[in-house]
Formats: sequence, C-alpha cells, structure tokens
Amino acid sequence: MITGTTKLLGVIGDPVGHSLSPLMHNAAINTLGLDYVYLPFPIKPHNLRDAIACFAAIGVLGFSVTIPHKQAIIPFLSEVSDLAKVVGAVNTVFYQDHHWVGTNTDVTGFISPLKTTYNRDWSQTSVVILGNGGAARAIVVGCTELGCGEIHVVGRDVEKIALFRDSWQNSTLVGNLQVHHWDMLPKLLPQANLLVNTTPVGMHPQIERSPLTIEEFKQFAVASSINPPIAYDLTYNPSPTKFLQQAASVGATTINGLEMLVQQGAAALKIWLQRDTVPVDVMRQTLLQHLFN
Ligand code: NAP
Repeated sequence: MITGTTKLLGVIGDPVGHSLSPLMHNAAINTLGLDYVYLPFPIKPHNLRDAIACFAAIGVLGFSVTIPHKQAIIPFLSEVSDLAKVVGAVNTVFYQDHHWVGTNTDVTGFISPLKTTYNRDWSQTSVVILGNGGAARAIVVGCTELGCGEIHVVGRDVEKIALFRDSWQNSTLVGNLQVHHWDMLPKLLPQANLLVNTTPVGMHPQIERSPLTIEEFKQFAVASSINPPIAYDLTYNPSPTKFLQQAASVGATTINGLEMLVQQGAAALKIWLQRDTVPVDVMRQTLLQHLFN
C-alpha cells in the first residue's frame, strides 16, 4: 500500500519497460512489510542530469541503473565506489549525507552462484568471456576476485577490442587479462574451463541462436580434468538458452543469468534498506513465476 510516508526507490534506463527489477524488489519489500515502493523511471540520456537532481529534491533514497546510463551517470555522482571505478560502470546509486553515491553489484551477482555451487581452486581456471560490452567488464572483475588464473575476453570488433584492452591499462586489479579477436577461439576454447556468454545472442525472442557452434563447443575444455567445465550464460530468458543446451550436450555444467540478476538486486536492496538480509528466495521465486509460469 502506498501511504503518505512511502519511501521511493526505482530503476532508471531507456527503455525500462522490460525491466524485471520492479517486480523483484516490490515482492521483497512487501514480504518485509516495509513502507517503500520501487518504481520504473524511463529517463532519456539528455535528461539524466535533471532526473538525478529531481530525485534528490523529491527524496528518492536510491535507484538501480540500467542501459544506457551505467557509465554516463558517473560524472553526476558525488562519489563512486572503488569497485565501480574498476568496473567502469555503476548499477546501484544511494543517497548518503546529501550526496549521490554509485556502486556496482553486478560483480557480486555474477560471482554468487559460482561460489555457492563450486568449491574449487579458481587459480586453476582459465575463463573465456564472449563479448566485450558493459557486462563483460563486471565479469572480468568478478573473475579477478575469484582468483581465476587466466582471463580471456573475446570480441568481434577490432576497434572496440582495442578500446576495451586500453581501458584496463591503469588498473592494478587485472594482471592476467588478455583480449582477443573472435578468430582466436579455436586456440582458447580447448584450454578454458569456464566459458561466459555476455553477448545478447540467444536471448528471447531469438531463442534458436547461439554465439558458438556445436563444433566450437566440442573444443571447449577438452584438456580439463581437474576442474570440470562450466558454461555460464548471462541471459536468463529462455532457460536454458541454446548456448547452455549445447554446453550440457558436451558435458559441461551450466548456470543461467537469473541468479546473477537476483543476487545483484539483493545486494542493492541491502544497501538501500541498510539491512544484512533481504528475502532472496522471494525475489527468485517471483522472477521464476513471472518468466516461466
Ligand atoms: P552491451 O554493452 O551491448 O555488450 C554486448 C556485447 O555483445 C558487445 O561486445 C557486442 O559486440 C557483443 N555482441 C552482440 N551481438 C553479437 C554477436 N552476434 N556476435 C558476437 N558478439 C556480439 O550489453 P551488456 O550490458 O554487456 O549486456 C550483455 C548481455 O548480458 C545482455 O543480454 C544483458 O541482458 C545481459 N546481462 C545480464 C545480467 C544479469 O543479471 N543476468 C546483467 C547484465 C547484463 P559489439 O560491440 O561488437 O556489437
């Protein structure tokens, strides 16, 4: 119920109509019985500065940030966490001491199912990340946090690959990162035991598509005996994606992007509500029911 004292949270993006965050966060807020509401705010890029100023004026306490504002918002914030600086993107903003502070919970979201499912020495892991967009940056930092021995990012556009590579030059966090053209996959896949798809290929409605062929999948992790291969797709709809179906058919274990979505949201909600726990099960079940029932 909205009351005269309801506190405001939300998500900014362009568009935001497809966002599942309002569903997920309002389900958690209702379960906790708190006087908050989480709203979608469609904000065009040229309105970003004004929107944030208005949010401060009307007392918004925090908001999620999605495409295309994750990098553009940084100049309008008073403070950015070290993690978000390393990633180069902000997905969570909160109001603290009359200032907007930005951070990034995608890294936590990405790592979470890997840490909870696998008890392994990640230093023996060679990861291949498909795609070099915004999400790939959080995955690079996440794999660094896990301690992966080798991190390979593969992209299809020579200029964007060069920019991506250069953008890490001053980062002390990423010592074992290599950036390649897509043509290098036949050399990289046989050594890899974690394969992450950060491209949107295969996302609903293009459910018959995959960024890799089955022949490429057959090269994946052929040398991997210590750590069985894991394929991780950031896409969560459909479930499984063609990419994860192919991975399963060559014996890899699979993770879809739903848990990352849930866990990045839970981490953000903890910040806004200043709580140690939030009802993660409710958030997950709400999304599963919405997507697949
Ligand atoms: P982005 O910045 O647009 O990056 C997409 C990347 O995919 C770019 O490197 C792009 O290459 C590449 N790509 C696109 N089509 C391709 C194709 N046909 N073949 C090879 N590469 C292709 O998007 P993003 O923010 O990184 O998000 C990527 C995906 O992750 C989206 O599907 C998003 O929904 C998902 N995601 C999920 C979560 C989660 O919580 N589960 C969180 C964040 C993102 P070019 O630049 O050359 O086009």
